[in-house]
Amino acid sequence: MRFYQNQLIYSASDFIQFMKCHYASQQAYQQVHMLHQQGLTAASQPASIDDTIALLQQRGLQHEAAYLQQLKQQYASVVEIEHRDLATAAELTRQAMQAGAEIIYQATFLNGHRAGHADFLRWVAQPSRLGDWSYEVIDTKLAGQVRVDFLLQLAFYSDLLAHEQGLLPQQLHVVLRQQQQASVALHRVWAYYQLHQAEFLRQIGQLADQDLYPVPCAACQYCSLQSSCEQRWQADQHLNRLAGISQVQIGKLHAAGIGSIPDLAHWSADQPIKGIAGESLARLVHQAQLQHQAQQTGQAYVDVLPIEQASRGFGLLPTPSPHDLYFDMEGDPLTAGGLEYLFGLLLPPYDRDGFEAFWALKKPMKKPRLRSLLIE
Ligand code: SF4
Repeated sequence: MRFYQNQLIYSASDFIQFMKCHYASQQAYQQVHMLHQQGLTAASQPASIDDTIALLQQRGLQHEAAYLQQLKQQYASVVEIEHRDLATAAELTRQAMQAGAEIIYQATFLNGHRAGHADFLRWVAQPSRLGDWSYEVIDTKLAGQVRVDFLLQLAFYSDLLAHEQGLLPQQLHVVLRQQQQASVALHRVWAYYQLHQAEFLRQIGQLADQDLYPVPCAACQYCSLQSSCEQRWQADQHLNRLAGISQVQIGKLHAAGIGSIPDLAHWSADQPIKGIAGESLARLVHQAQLQHQAQQTGQAYVDVLPIEQASRGFGLLPTPSPHDLYFDMEGDPLTAGGLEYLFGLLLPPYDRDGFEAFWALKKPMKKPRLRSLLIE
């Protein structure tokens, strides 16, 4: 989100971020207001981006550029919207649509409080306010398969596109890793999108006044606020720091008034908690006691649990043998098609000298390295 011509503008990313984490949206909302009051913009602030996120962004741009080249070979009229000013870029997009360009790259929309930059618009022979044609949105994604948040993002752009051409597009298109294309009918996600879009627009302005607490979710690993949230959880000794606990169990413990690891460590496991089985509660309390003790003394405590069943946990391990080998492999999922680049073996006497590495830094090396590992 950002201020543009003294008006707060929301993007598709803001909408998706809100759906994943209200706390992150609140932080963004507060920051953009603070900068605006100081006469600054987010672009004027030095951004600290995690290396992985920076690499992902770089790979995403390469993927997009490769698809653009492909489209340029396929279509005669590809219009690139290069202007950075929002209103100008939106006007140039409108003109390209009216002129019937086959492909519009970096299509920009501005409608009320909402703005969007779709990677591509593609001409389709579906009559609209523009004439005998209209457009559908294509977005490039590095993922291997279509995700719900991609579809919601595309629905957001399609919504803005519909205001321009007077017609909702029929299809959403995603160009995935390796340039595979997937298309989904817009009507399949439209009701869901509208429901959440209305909720987003209703709530976003009220977030600043709410007392929100960060709740870990799948989005945390790519979130720029991750380290500050981690610090807060650590300082609060939040239950999400407890090994082996689930979000559902955290919810049940909160409902019982237990909000931190020390709270749980002092809880008597005999006192039942609604929704958590006695055995699970005893395990959580025991784990909380170990971690709380470690926190207080600075020493790690380990209790070796008795083997309960031969078919579970340590019970699954075979009898130790002097010929045991330990194998580990490392991979890079961001390389096109993925690459397992290191096969590591730990041999007796299982110390640093016993480690043997088989590196496969390029795809063709993978097979011979794996063969060496199996044969040697
Ligand atoms: S790190 Fe997780 S909880 Fe914190 S703001 Fe980001 S997504 Fe939300």
